[in-house]
Amino acid sequence: MEEPMTPEDNARMILEKLHEGSLWEPAGLGLSYVKVGPKKLMLTQQQNSPLSAQARIRMQMLVESVGWTIDETEAQIVDVENLSPQERHMQEMMMRQEAAQRWPCPECKTPLSTFPLEEGVWTFDGQQDLVTPDGDIVKDVEQWSVVITCPVCDTKVPTEPYDYALLAGEDAMMIYSTDQVKYTALSRPEIIDKIDAKKGAPDVLILGTFCPFKGDLLPPHVRGSVVMWEAIEEEE
Ligand SMILES: [Zn+2]
Repeated sequence: MEEPMTPEDNARMILEKLHEGSLWEPAGLGLSYVKVGPKKLMLTQQQNSPLSAQARIRMQMLVESVGWTIDETEAQIVDVENLSPQERHMQEMMMRQEAAQRWPCPECKTPLSTFPLEEGVWTFDGQQDLVTPDGDIVKDVEQWSVVITCPVCDTKVPTEPYDYALLAGEDAMMIYSTDQVKYTALSRPEIIDKIDAKKGAPDVLILGTFCPFKGDLLPPHVRGSVVMWEAIEEEE
């Protein structure tokens, strides 16, 4: 029997995956942290709500209990009361995208945004039980990373799927390749064109959990998509 993860284990796991310059915003707390050094965070923003102020104290205790430190001297208090939920969401997305542009290669500091991101390799890292901020346990959550390679020093950098999408953009999420097959997600008009053009549309598929050709496990974001498939020519 595996023990479920404690909040400390969970925090440690999240922190270990952050790269320098990464933004960390624990869900629903109104706090924004950036990793600024080995085992060191900086609090950049706190929302001006009692919930956020209390969470700031709790998070500091949690983070310090796993051996990290937080620099709170530069923290801005942000007024969010006058923003609609949509405006808040837009603001958060902009901050995340800005932060992603600054993430450096851990070895040579080349920005990750200049890596050949479309060549990222989706990698299944096993399953893990997770504890939500409310203390609920979610069993067997699949862990995935996208490994990108530095064009300068060849370091392989694993990134969180969410971070990868921020870096590479939505278009990169529409294409997925196994060793043998390239899948491209289709929009509704594209599906209609394909079906009208050729009866049965033999190059169109709906994906499930596994590649229908070779049985490879597919990453969650492509499951349930309608795709066009093409065989990948073997390179001599
Ligand atoms: Zn590098």
